Amino acid sequence: MLTGNGDSVVGVGLEINVDYLSVCVLDLLDRVRYLRVVRIDNREGSVDAAVAAAAELTRAAVDQALADGLVPVGVCVGVPGTVEVDTGRLRYAPNLGWENLPLADMLAAQLQRAELPVRVGNEANLGALGELWGGQGQSWGDYFHVSGEIGVGGGLVVGGQLMLGVDGFAGEFGHVQIDRDGPACPCGSQGCLERFVGQEALLAAAGVDAEPATSIGAPDGGGVALLVARAQAGDPKTLAALDEAGRILGGACATVVHLFNPETVVLGGIFAALAPWILCPVEEEMHRQLSHGLRRVQVAVSTLGPDAAVRGAASEAMRPILADPASAPRYPRDVPGGLARRRADHIA
Ligand SMILES: [Zn+2]
Repeated sequence: MLTGNGDSVVGVGLEINVDYLSVCVLDLLDRVRYLRVVRIDNREGSVDAAVAAAAELTRAAVDQALADGLVPVGVCVGVPGTVEVDTGRLRYAPNLGWENLPLADMLAAQLQRAELPVRVGNEANLGALGELWGGQGQSWGDYFHVSGEIGVGGGLVVGGQLMLGVDGFAGEFGHVQIDRDGPACPCGSQGCLERFVGQEALLAAAGVDAEPATSIGAPDGGGVALLVARAQAGDPKTLAALDEAGRILGGACATVVHLFNPETVVLGGIFAALAPWILCPVEEEMHRQLSHGLRRVQVAVSTLGPDAAVRGAASEAMRPILADPASAPRYPRDVPGGLARRRADHIA
């Protein structure tokens, strides 16, 4: 248990996604102290411009946190791609078209706050952690969190820990091949799950004429809001598309359950918004494919929504303090300028 001014410790989470940037300052009690979202199409601009905008958003959050007497202890950024978590290098983000970037170093250079360590993680993994620390994750036991936005990702939490794999790439659920003759995928393979249950595939199958967008990035909710409206109106083509997607997703989840025997499969991102129509087919197909002893797995729906990843990132930024509460800094608040100076001294 942290004492003293431990309640002022905060982590700064950042998310760089296809069509938005978001930043979140979270304290150790999982209270959101600051949250800002900027809609920006990161597919069209340069990488440098996106990183500069992300750094500016982060700097504003850190400045506000310090002005509020809070103590930022680190920054973690979530991206929709494979990340070397040890080095902070983004290997590949197919929906951004970004490849092989030293993202942690680039952000740290732009941010110019040497006292704040910058880490990078996969957004789906961070979304799964967001649920653990700020959502219902504590009640789910070991769980597999499936998140859909434009792509599809997964995060497996076992014993309260995220399973990262040897390179940190675990959970690339959207690129599990389900049809060797299926459509080509930006990852270089073909027939990936994402090509069948990702947003682009859902919109096409339902006959909705809209560009894929994240639920945060699209001002009016984008294509997912159109899907929900059509499903609510009983549109047969939309209902059939969602039912089929749910069955394909359920079958893929059955494979994960066979491998890891989790207690819960969690539907997050757009799958949470579409849960009224896909939850039953997911459950039915998953249970149909499961061996008898594995059928007690339950399907739950995320309650954090699209903020899960940036909240998970902010929590991850505090991980060193959570692992070693005694290292939480203590700062006198009555010394003008003392907060920033002493924070730097402590972390250095
Ligand atoms: Zn793929």
